[in-house]
Amino acid sequence: MRDFSTDHRWLSINTATVRQQRGQDWPLLDILDACGQRGIRAVSPWRDQVAAAGLQATANKLQEHGIELSGYCRGGMFTYTDAASRQASRDDNRRALDEACTLHAPCLVLVVGGLPGALAGHAAHRDIAGAREQVNEGIAALLDDARERQMPLAIEPLHPMYAADRACINTLAQALDVCDALDPGRTGALGLAVDLYHVWWDPTLAVQIQRAGPDANGDGSRLLAFHVCDWLTPTTHLLEDRGMMGDGVIDIPHIRALVEAQGFAGYSEVEIFSRGNWWRQDGGQVLDTCIERHRRCV
Ligand code: ZN
Repeated sequence: MRDFSTDHRWLSINTATVRQQRGQDWPLLDILDACGQRGIRAVSPWRDQVAAAGLQATANKLQEHGIELSGYCRGGMFTYTDAASRQASRDDNRRALDEACTLHAPCLVLVVGGLPGALAGHAAHRDIAGAREQVNEGIAALLDDARERQMPLAIEPLHPMYAADRACINTLAQALDVCDALDPGRTGALGLAVDLYHVWWDPTLAVQIQRAGPDANGDGSRLLAFHVCDWLTPTTHLLEDRGMMGDGVIDIPHIRALVEAQGFAGYSEVEIFSRGNWWRQDGGQVLDTCIERHRRCV
């Protein structure tokens, strides 16, 4: 396993981690300046942050600092109630792919969607199996567009507590089943974003990470992204109470060892949504803490 204790060259910052410091949006271009000043070599920005900053301005700023992406957040939300919402999802995902290409992302991260309407508080139905069929269909269609653009898709399974409203793909096994069905040749076009917050509890975690790994020749790995934070006890909010690495119960080095045993050699991307704690702090101090914890706890 790589030694992270002496530098932070394999640290990436998911920019939602510092998106709204002390009640104010921290503009993406300023976040990138702060990352550049600290020698942070990679980020994973969100589409709304990029839209606010401007796509080309973001690309220019990344180039100025020599910062690359560890992923682009995010595409997905494939479930629909009618032809118009299905088309809208498809169009929006194509735009996400194009943005990811402009920013030279290594992959577009997919949060696949749950029951249509549930995120707004009014689920259109109770048919989660049907929602999962729509997700498979949506990924299959997007995969054609992604192949055209040579932009890999990374399915991010979300913790089951989000099955209704954000993602009805909830385990690595489920995500890998989709990968195997749609990309049986392991071409590199479709894989996983492994986010520890969502999968740390899974009793089959080690087996599934091994399943995602490459073949005997070292080809065809499905491991495209690795997201870290920590699970706090107690957790006080389903979405916005993620912990800083080292403050919770996830054995992060153990899981990093599992993915690295499968040849993963990319960034550890810190992704923390924390309204009650880290979003209340000075952004620069949060980045400094991420660097320190990356060295000590990841
Ligand atoms: Zn994530």
